[in-house]
Amino acid sequence: MDIKSVIKEEVLAHKAYPVENLPYPVKLDANENPLTIPEELRAEFATRLAAIPLNRYPEAGAPILTARFAAGFGVAEDQVMIGNGSDELIQILCSAVARPGAEVMIPTPTFAMYSISPVNAGCRVVEVPLDAAFDLDVAAMSALISAHSPVLTFLASPNNPTGNSFSRDRIEAIIARSPGIVVVDEAYQNFYGQTFLPLIAKYDNLVILRTLSKIGFAAARLGILVGRSELVYELNKVRLPYNLSALSQAAAGFYLDHEGIFLQQAQEIRLWREELYAELLTISGIHPRRSDANFIFFSCDFDSDRIYSMLLSGGVLVKNFNVPGKIKNFMRVTVGVPEENDIFIKKLKEILQQLGA
Ligand code: PMP
Repeated sequence: MDIKSVIKEEVLAHKAYPVENLPYPVKLDANENPLTIPEELRAEFATRLAAIPLNRYPEAGAPILTARFAAGFGVAEDQVMIGNGSDELIQILCSAVARPGAEVMIPTPTFAMYSISPVNAGCRVVEVPLDAAFDLDVAAMSALISAHSPVLTFLASPNNPTGNSFSRDRIEAIIARSPGIVVVDEAYQNFYGQTFLPLIAKYDNLVILRTLSKIGFAAARLGILVGRSELVYELNKVRLPYNLSALSQAAAGFYLDHEGIFLQQAQEIRLWREELYAELLTISGIHPRRSDANFIFFSCDFDSDRIYSMLLSGGVLVKNFNVPGKIKNFMRVTVGVPEENDIFIKKLKEILQQLGA
């Protein structure tokens, strides 16, 4: 068989999402919570996992969890769907709207899966660059809406990798002007505080995404979608019946039972973020952007590819975003615990000195 004659062109044309799996001593590349389950809760977590009947399929559609999240969000159960990470929810949304000619609008730069999943599903992705402040360019997006009528738009607010949230009035303008679904992805909401959830009552095309990945449960793969019940009803036809393993469901139940502890961790990470930002500001040749998330996007006066590999050699893993144009020589560092942040800052200062800053 000629594999290339079988696989569709769009898939052949792109690369798999790159993930660095090597264990680096200081891992600040994936926007994870650097803290884990507190020591005193581990035995309880282990007991819950041990009680799972591994021989049985998990509950299809995770009804108990769905009801608990719905109650927390103040919406009806049939307005919520839980996914195997919000990545899966993004994929489900794309599969549900994909038909020949369907277009998905995204601002750039933004989260990589907003272009990978639509392309895999058979949609065309139309990109609109963010403005100079990394905010939405409403005029350009409105023009695109009029010309292309995108079926789906993804807006991450706070945005990854830029870290800022978009202006509320601009987000609302896009929702109001869009004939298609507009996803406001609030993956980093715990580090920001504001939400678009209440606007679901006002706009029937609005979908909110949340995840537990940034607040300490990345390993469990838990994403949450909230929208109008009519839409969730259709999306449930695309979702695989047993998309959420029983282990993940147990982890989510455990999270909800102890949510306060993890929300407290997020508050602490916000403080560490401000400390890290203040430190980065003092380094000449480094220009950090203010962040509403658990990471900081910064530009370097030197080649960021070089800095990235020098940090790696020093055991510090960050994410490099060196793309010609608006994000040339940009990097993203996740906020770690103070000890990790200190090592990162120390190494970065050493590197810049070597480079002659
Ligand atoms: N949305 C955004 C904006 C993200 O940055 C990420 C993680 N990088 C995700 C979604 C995916 O989260 P999950 O782990 O829930 O799939």
